[in-house]
Amino acid sequence: MLTAARVAAPLSLRDVRAGYGRIEVLHGIDVEVRRGEVTTLLGPNGAGKTTTLGVMSGLITPSSGCRHVQGRHVNGADAAALARIGVCHVREGRSVFPNLTVADNLVVASSSGASLDRLTEVAFTLFPRLKERRTQLAGTLSGGEKQMLALARGLGTDPSVLLVDELSMGLAPLVVAELYEAVAAVAQQGVGVVVVEQFATIGLRVASRAYVMAHGQVIYAGSSADAEDAVHTAYLGSAAS
Ligand code: ATP
Repeated sequence: MLTAARVAAPLSLRDVRAGYGRIEVLHGIDVEVRRGEVTTLLGPNGAGKTTTLGVMSGLITPSSGCRHVQGRHVNGADAAALARIGVCHVREGRSVFPNLTVADNLVVASSSGASLDRLTEVAFTLFPRLKERRTQLAGTLSGGEKQMLALARGLGTDPSVLLVDELSMGLAPLVVAELYEAVAAVAQQGVGVVVVEQFATIGLRVASRAYVMAHGQVIYAGSSADAEDAVHTAYLGSAAS
């Protein structure tokens, strides 16, 4: 039997440097995503959170360091290749086709090889509201319902890693709570979940582990319960600079 120590993390970054063209934004970061846990990336505007998610999902290639998925070194893999091995990135406002119905959005999601039955089951079990609205155009859904559909499209592919960017953006607290309940349920099934949240309080509430970033570096890695001091340092430091 494999011991926990010998089971590879679903995704990890080791001393990763990355950026845009010649501009380096991440200056050697280490992040480990654990199976069955929600991890949050926190930090002020421009800290490098979205860039880190981009590296994790293959949208951005590290210039040095190591990106591992299930223990495999995958620095050169692009987003499509990482999606095929179970890395699912739900990007704010990007994952829904507005001119298609809810049901047809799920059909499109199945074109990547996922089973339509499975996608439909996951979507309608996690979010019964989507079932009620299956014939409605996605563009006319509320903001929260759009995020539910975006999450469902990703989750129906049975990912091993779920990367979620700014799930709470512009949504009412009750809707945010409902979305994060679903995310927590997904983590409990063994998926490694990473959430990026602009508002630290939300991130710390939903996650058991936190990485606090400032100026492209990780300044804290550990339990969410102990992250408060680092959060203050990062956010106040950015306000002062
Ligand atoms: P926010 O909370 O504001 O979204 P963030 O922590 O997610 O911030 P990033 O979006 O990762 O930060 O940005 C980190 C740095 O990289 C910033 O200085 C930003 O200006 C820069 N950056 C982001 N995207 C690009 C890009 N496409 N081209 C050049 N620089 C970029």
